[in-house]
Amino acid sequence: MNLEGKRVLVVGLGSTGEALCTFLLHHGARVKVSEKKKPEEMGQKISLWEEKGVAVETGTHNQKSFMEADLIVPSPGVPWLPELEAARTNGVKIISEIELAYKFLKGKIVGITGSNGKSTTATLTQKILEEGGLKTYLAGNIGTPLISFVDNSADDHIYVTEISSFQLEHIEEFRVSISVLLNISPDHLDWHPSFADYYEAKKKLIVSQRENDIAILNRDDPLVWALKEEGEFQVYAFSRNGKVSPGCFLNGDWIFLSNKEEEKLIKTSAIPLLGIHNQENIMASALVGHILGIPPSIIKDPIKNFRGLEHRLEKVATIRGVDFYNDSKATNVDATSKSIQSFDRKIILILGGRDKGGDFKKLRKPVKENIKRIILLGEATEKIRTTLKGIVPMETVSSIEEAVRLGYSRAKPQEVMLLAPACTSFDMFQNFEERGKVFKREVLSLAKELGKERP
Ligand code: ADP
Repeated sequence: MNLEGKRVLVVGLGSTGEALCTFLLHHGARVKVSEKKKPEEMGQKISLWEEKGVAVETGTHNQKSFMEADLIVPSPGVPWLPELEAARTNGVKIISEIELAYKFLKGKIVGITGSNGKSTTATLTQKILEEGGLKTYLAGNIGTPLISFVDNSADDHIYVTEISSFQLEHIEEFRVSISVLLNISPDHLDWHPSFADYYEAKKKLIVSQRENDIAILNRDDPLVWALKEEGEFQVYAFSRNGKVSPGCFLNGDWIFLSNKEEEKLIKTSAIPLLGIHNQENIMASALVGHILGIPPSIIKDPIKNFRGLEHRLEKVATIRGVDFYNDSKATNVDATSKSIQSFDRKIILILGGRDKGGDFKKLRKPVKENIKRIILLGEATEKIRTTLKGIVPMETVSSIEEAVRLGYSRAKPQEVMLLAPACTSFDMFQNFEERGKVFKREVLSLAKELGKERP
């Protein structure tokens, strides 16, 4: 693809949008940005990019700019705008950032997708490959956008890339050497028109693979496992429920790798990450290392040392025997459900925020089994209250700070206070990180106050 002199429209000026601008300018394109945010929300960004020669339109999307472009690259998360539809009907090519990167990138891509666990798995996978002496980089949401690596890429590089359904919407030739599909459960139904549409997008990562490519699939998730026949690619499985080969599985207290023979990888008690879902993430990561020739003795160490990411089932403090956990990234029902099941103690759960089409009915069973009390917050309060009515006591608050204080007043020693809201944070916060930070700040300030009171 030759970008010299081409009119390229970048939709959205977040971190991926900015990375795209840098790349496109470097390749001689005439770059325009269409950003829906108002100029006052954008700080210095507009003038910085204008100085570099990018035309920046803000406040609204201008249909004419979409029509005039030779190529449009929407940032991940940009919805299917009417302006995009009209441009496509008019014959304008629309591709995602990963597709553009793919056209220029040297090296191998390990693509990791799923409804939950992408960031955790991508991070751990990259650590394993690094420990194995490979030249490896963490790309995508959690790392640096793939496009930023292109100009320095080399044949022996391996890009461990977290890939969301948004990015898979607009791919054509994009193909990865090793794919990982962790799980599929309803998510982002505020963005995708239906679950079927979301599934189709996720599927693309796997079904685009060819004969020498490898798909690592969750044997325990029927929607994921159903894809094993959908191409010529080789399949490796991971399972918590039974032996698989070639693959990785849990048997008793051990995780095994299995190819021609079975080998012990790690004892579950040596894993610092909490939760059964993290065992799945670990198995998927270990398989990538195994496929790339790293021995189990080396794969094991990064697993033993990996303490997880901020805002994912992160331990914040223990206050007078009550453990506080921040899982602000649990923005959908499945993540919250897994989070709840990670504890064998009673939990006081903070739920709520902005609903993205979640089916809260699915929380009834885990709530019944593990939750002592629910504290509700944010826009989804009424929907959750109605759906979970009659199972455990529910109380409503208007801030995270209040939730922390109220929750603590209801908790007994040995119980858990958990923020795992099953909703996005956008009704009250910039993002899940801000929500998690506010939670942690309040927990730590409570710890300080009560610490002082202690006799
Ligand atoms: P993603 O990048 O897909 O959003 P993260 O690793 O950031 O995934 O985790 C998001 C949320 O999902 C967190 O609340 C985490 O505890 C939970 N989670 C992580 N891995 C899994 C998994 N395999 N299945 C279900 N939930 C998971």
